[in-house]
Amino acid sequence: MTDYFAKSALLPRGWSDDVLITVDDNGDIESLMPNSRASRGAVRLNGPALPGISNLHSHAFQRAMAGLAERARTGSQDSFWTWRDIMYKFLARLTPQQVGAIAAQLYIEMLKSGYTTVGEFHYLHHQSDGTPYDDLGEMAHWVVGAAQRTGLAITLLPVLYTYSGFGAQTHKPQQRRFINGADRFQRLIGDLHQRYSDDPQFTLGIAPHSIRAVSKGVLSEALTGLNRIDATAPIHIHIAEQTKEVDDCVAWSNQRPVTWLYSNFQVDERWCLVHATHINRMESWMVAHSRAVAGLCPTTEANLGDGIFPLGLYMRGEGRFGIGSDSHISVSPVEELRWLEYVQRLRRQLRNVTASERQRHVGARLWNAALAGGAQALGRKTDGLKTGNRADFISLDGDHPLLVGRKGHAITDSLVFSGNTNPVSDVVVGGRHVVAEGHHAEEEKIARAYRKAIGELMA
Ligand SMILES: [Zn+2]
Repeated sequence: MTDYFAKSALLPRGWSDDVLITVDDNGDIESLMPNSRASRGAVRLNGPALPGISNLHSHAFQRAMAGLAERARTGSQDSFWTWRDIMYKFLARLTPQQVGAIAAQLYIEMLKSGYTTVGEFHYLHHQSDGTPYDDLGEMAHWVVGAAQRTGLAITLLPVLYTYSGFGAQTHKPQQRRFINGADRFQRLIGDLHQRYSDDPQFTLGIAPHSIRAVSKGVLSEALTGLNRIDATAPIHIHIAEQTKEVDDCVAWSNQRPVTWLYSNFQVDERWCLVHATHINRMESWMVAHSRAVAGLCPTTEANLGDGIFPLGLYMRGEGRFGIGSDSHISVSPVEELRWLEYVQRLRRQLRNVTASERQRHVGARLWNAALAGGAQALGRKTDGLKTGNRADFISLDGDHPLLVGRKGHAITDSLVFSGNTNPVSDVVVGGRHVVAEGHHAEEEKIARAYRKAIGELMA
């Protein structure tokens, strides 16, 4: 059992002072007492404490290519699809060890910026020529190992990728590292469940890559298989990131992707629709009404020129959302939340667009919404500092200039909207104090291994 003491903490009802947080040996919050004194031996946090946010969408290996696709090609208009060609070239040579080194470096960065759980949308399964490794889960083990080593909680979402386009088109050679049919996919998730189900920091879900990469039959089989393991496990899918994807889906089925999904499957709170960027009014209502989570990745969606999610409309319908750093062009919950709001401001020429009558503080509103949506989407009890939830929280540096004189929701507003210096000081995940005063015990070793892996890849 460990006690943590915060001079102020964001609890479900709002900010409270002098909060004693007691964590049991499983890493759950046993009790939370505002207006307390620090117990003997309590770890004193040196600034305001907040529940840690989930990063619900990550492709870890892409961290190593952030910044390498920003040189315009000659003679062609760059788009998501030209970026994807570069990404395919990059991943063709990656070894499991390199993927592990990249993931560990990334996960340290996530922790230090305030994320406490990652949803890893894991599609790099096989060797470069498409032959499975002797252990089907080889790549996954390196990714999970990186999470375990750094202390970041992980919801692993092995990706079901069977086809290259709508109507069961045969995969391209560049996609052979991703491909599984229903049977092999079932073996993969069965193995992973068996190996990791005892780890309270691990959750298993699945991710049909996109409607274009599966068929109705293959997806139905995968869902049946998943339900045999865990009928509550999360299901994530890339849904409508690009207008070309929407157009191709309409040409194939006469329906837009979200409409097709809802016509063919029972979509509920287990589902996370990643990049629900191009949805119409009716689809926005359908997603909100189904209580699924929209997985929004504002910095990546901006970087790739995807488009703008209709956040105002969706939030007015009480739609749920969470954030992800996806391609890791940025690793910061603050930057994701800020972009979410700023894009809407630019589009509508208004301020404080995502405020509501009940919560006028935009920073607090966004933090709490992404907190709840992320926890739901990753299937973890992390939707706030409450008894019985995982002990996942961060504390800010109370002496940081951007927090001087801030109290209550002005802390969250200042955190989200006032700068690019990181005020996160301490991070606790599942009760484990993994970042202390901005430092992670493994960071030097992990950075060395990362530099070595990048050296090999750039050679
Ligand atoms: Zn993605």
